[in-house]
Amino acid sequence: MPKIKSSAIQQWFGRLPGNVGIGNVRYTTSGKTDEKSLIKGTQPVTASKNGLKLAISFNGNIVNTFQLAEEIKTKFPSFSYECDAELVCHKLMIELLKGKGITSAVKTCMQKIDGAFSVTCITRDGQLFAFKDPHGIRPLCAGHSRTSPLYVFSSETVSLDINGLEKDFELEPGELVKVTKSGFIRQRLVKDKKAFCAFEYAYFARPDSRFDGKYVYEIREEFGRNLVRENPEIVKDADIVLSVPETGDDPAMGVHEESGLRWERASRRHRYVTERAFLLLNKERHSTIDRKINIQPPKIKGKRVIVTEDSIVRGDTTRVIVDKLRRMGAKKVYLFVTFPRIIGPCLYGIDMATYGQLIGSKHSPEEIAKIIGANAVCYQSVESFIKATGSKSDELCTACVTGKYPTPMAQKIADVMKKKFQEGHEEIGRIYEIEELVKTCSGKAN
Ligand code: SF4
Repeated sequence: MPKIKSSAIQQWFGRLPGNVGIGNVRYTTSGKTDEKSLIKGTQPVTASKNGLKLAISFNGNIVNTFQLAEEIKTKFPSFSYECDAELVCHKLMIELLKGKGITSAVKTCMQKIDGAFSVTCITRDGQLFAFKDPHGIRPLCAGHSRTSPLYVFSSETVSLDINGLEKDFELEPGELVKVTKSGFIRQRLVKDKKAFCAFEYAYFARPDSRFDGKYVYEIREEFGRNLVRENPEIVKDADIVLSVPETGDDPAMGVHEESGLRWERASRRHRYVTERAFLLLNKERHSTIDRKINIQPPKIKGKRVIVTEDSIVRGDTTRVIVDKLRRMGAKKVYLFVTFPRIIGPCLYGIDMATYGQLIGSKHSPEEIAKIIGANAVCYQSVESFIKATGSKSDELCTACVTGKYPTPMAQKIADVMKKKFQEGHEEIGRIYEIEELVKTCSGKAN
């Protein structure tokens, strides 16, 4: 790790008052997305009462929101919220007001909040601490500077690397970490089964981040090798492998290494078009993909192509890509998808929150291939996926591909909604934001 003498980070800190700070780049999985609501939900969010003040930044998604909001309103009658971080912040404030200290307050929050939460927090007197939900669903790590008394938390190790900081550890599920002048104090407050989000490995995390000491890109390469081992007949019937950049790049490398097929790097991503296509409206999706991913027709014409893709959510993005390849003269198009078939919504911080939007909840791989116009759609098996991550099978959340949710209320909501969906009920909005459904399930889950 290079030594920092006069780095950009130090100059930047020098321009801010104080010596402690938190922040968050929000990925919205709850609340409204109009400008006013987004500004109100900007983190850190704060709560104050009786001389106490608290600010938090949060990554994740809360499931028992209505239950928490009702409780909070008894202490903060004018409470309203745009972002579930405000619920975590006010719940923590309520517990701190009981006067038992940070450790006790955080422990109660871990026990009473259902969902995924990786939280950093500052109190009025400048204490910095961080904690994770009892299943450790979202990432959070801690590190320090070797040249100055600087201690940091970050979702991913990459932000430590690029700032010349040293990683110390990833927070354990149910762990509270306080920062003192002499370093970190770690306390495991609630012990439950680890359920780290599997989708981080396939899509969400940066490839140059590390989880449990392994670079994400190495795991993604192994995903590609697994797909070759699981689909030998299709590999025999292919001429080249092509990736959907960038999350398909590392698996394409794996396919190339395992099969010997040429990785034709004829698909390039536009550096400055950053919209995530699966989050866009239908009409925007086609033009965004056209602008975002450019494919070179002469390299495709007459070829049987294996396309590596991280996941299929709605199927619209993939359909546009397959259609593009067909128009360019591809003889055959096979999809190699690293994340197993998504059959259920995520209630923990990835914005795929209804059954209806998921092509995999209604269709088999064969049907999906027909719908998107591919010759075959090959998903990596759940077993191979887990093995490649180096995790034990009971250490990952795989709820959206297996239907087994790690927290009780999420399981109830997902089960009730699945039944309703199969009976033909329409889902109006994210399932964990349907008040009647969530309130009914909060009774059943307790
Ligand atoms: S449901 Fe899927 S996307 Fe959501 S946390 Fe679990 S594995 Fe990740």
